[in-house]
Amino acid sequence: MRSSALRDRLWAFTMQGEDLAQRGNRVDLDPAVNDVWGRRAGRVTYAPHGHEIVASQHWAPLLEEVMREAGAEWTISTTSPPIGELGPLDSENPLGIAPASRHVMGTCRMGDNPTSSVVDAQSRFHDVENMLCADSSVFVTSTGYGPTLTLAALSKRAAHLLTGTEHSVGGPFDGD
Ligand SMILES: Cc1cc2nc3c(=O)[nH]c(=O)nc-3n(C[C@H](O)[C@H](O)[C@H](O)COP(=O)(O)OP(=O)(O)OC[C@H]3O[C@@H](n4cnc5c(N)ncnc54)[C@H](O)[C@@H]3O)c2cc1C
Repeated sequence: MRSSALRDRLWAFTMQGEDLAQRGNRVDLDPAVNDVWGRRAGRVTYAPHGHEIVASQHWAPLLEEVMREAGAEWTISTTSPPIGELGPLDSENPLGIAPASRHVMGTCRMGDNPTSSVVDAQSRFHDVENMLCADSSVFVTSTGYGPTLTLAALSKRAAHLLTGTEHSVGGPFDGD
């Protein structure tokens, strides 16, 4: 990086948007593919919804505009999902339309209805007695910001609910 000729000529400006939950986007067990231990492998099914595509089309030019107003002579933007026609999944495009996200969550989403959610509002599994889930998978949607403090708060609350101890208010992770 130190020897890069462009090092002090390039600036990256990033926005993390929210990927809304869709019924069709899910992680389940693949009926045909097994993992190295012979167990059914996980399968991810994902397609971007109109919300993510419209948001990408809306924000990408605005972020470029900010850079140009700040003095950039040349700008380029890339979005996830990409704007424009999405090619088929093949060797040229091995990830297809998989989003480039570091905030992957919602595989054990929280809700009142056992048919459309995995855990209840207290992070308890609907169909497994006295078991709670304590991580970002209980999020109902992804967030447009860093999720870690919220998942730490949910985990702390789940630990108190599981042990029956009192949940003290006022610590650094008291997000609930
Ligand atoms: C590059 C990057 C940057 C990020 N930046 C930020 C940020 O700035 N701010 C922010 O708030 N968030 C950020 N995040 C998101 C945040 O790191 C995650 O949302 C958070 O770590 C998720 O926590 P988790 O406990 O749900 O899952 P994880 O942290 O992924 O923990 C899951 C654990 O389960 C283990 N595991 C998996 N399968 C098994 C198994 N079968 N048996 C036993 N153990 C298993 C894994 O080894 C892992 O330790 C970032 C993420 C990435 C990748």
